[in-house]
Amino acid sequence: MLIPPGRSRLNLLAACLAGVLACLGLLAACQPEQDQDQEHSAQLFVFGTIVEIKLWGASQEQSDRAFSEVQQMFQGMHRDWHAWEPGLLVEINEAFASGAAVTASQDIVEMIRLSQEVEEKSAGCFNPAIGGLVALWGFHTSDYPIIGPPPSREDIEHILTHRPSSREIRIDGLQLTSANPFVQLDFGGIAKGYAVDLAVARLRELGVGSAIVNAGGDLRAFGLHGDRPWRVAVRKPGGGAIGTLEVRQDEAMFTSGNYARFRQDEQERYPHILDPRSGWPVRGVASATVISKTGTVADAAATALIVAGLDEWMTVARSLGLDQVLIIDDAGRLYLTPEMEARVQLGEGVERVVVDWAAGPGS
Ligand code: ADP
Ligand code: MG
Repeated sequence: MLIPPGRSRLNLLAACLAGVLACLGLLAACQPEQDQDQEHSAQLFVFGTIVEIKLWGASQEQSDRAFSEVQQMFQGMHRDWHAWEPGLLVEINEAFASGAAVTASQDIVEMIRLSQEVEEKSAGCFNPAIGGLVALWGFHTSDYPIIGPPPSREDIEHILTHRPSSREIRIDGLQLTSANPFVQLDFGGIAKGYAVDLAVARLRELGVGSAIVNAGGDLRAFGLHGDRPWRVAVRKPGGGAIGTLEVRQDEAMFTSGNYARFRQDEQERYPHILDPRSGWPVRGVASATVISKTGTVADAAATALIVAGLDEWMTVARSLGLDQVLIIDDAGRLYLTPEMEARVQLGEGVERVVVDWAAGPGS
């Protein structure tokens, strides 16, 4: 998520601590945890979370360079991709709102292309052009929970009738235009995944043969951790892990959660993931975990599956070419695809439903 530190007082404290760590210029963070020639790790504070990077088998020199480059990359992304703090994305949205052409960066153009594909394949469940709705609901903030009633139906309808879609963005080299002024980009559902992919690509370019980039449980890994695979925890609603699994040679696992950030009034809680078709927060699925080849697809798909809900998630997952998914509903029930069930080791006594994947949509 592209949000600065400080969602709550507790988080603020954690953020300050992490900020201090970051200010130490990675000094403490770069201390190898194990044998100097085997594992090197660093912690960075970006995207409102602590990102842990571990390299296996890299030299001290290689690690130092890798950590400092990735930190710089992340800081640039945080600045340029932010949905509401002044930066390139805000300029792009202003240009769309006024009908002007605007020059973007290569990474934003690529993120739009990837987003357009996921929007299409998810039948609009994932839609990064609904920044206007996200802002209307007050979710362009780092301070949760938001206290107050929902926006008016008229205001929601006003945006909805203009049907903002990432597919209405025309790309010509680095130049972007949109004929629809209601197209307002918010990469909150995909940016962390794309950032992790870019970091992994850079690590590979630097000659790193094995690494994990872990942004608060959303991660991508490649290579082996010595002679065994990387073992990671699968997040669960409310914090903590529902289980663990071993990462295969190169893949990403992302969990979208619709429980931690919300608006609240006397009657109801309104979680932060919106259904682009209704303009209202979605309910039913508390978290969706997706394993895919890239962080970008895993992140965006996890958001899409929360929107798709208990009735549609399998149809949308298939359309996105996924076969490794774990859904936890609002009542805490687990649903897994058979491929996911074969990999994940769940805690003692955790009940689950393995869905009938072979039967096709609607099964
Ligand atoms: P998490 O907060 O667990 O990382 P997500 O990856 O699903 O969750 O990202 C949620 C963010 O995505 C929201 O804060 C908002 O910025 C944006 N968003 C909300 N609804 C949608 C949607 N339907 N499609 C795309 N992005 C969305
Ligand atoms: Mg996401």
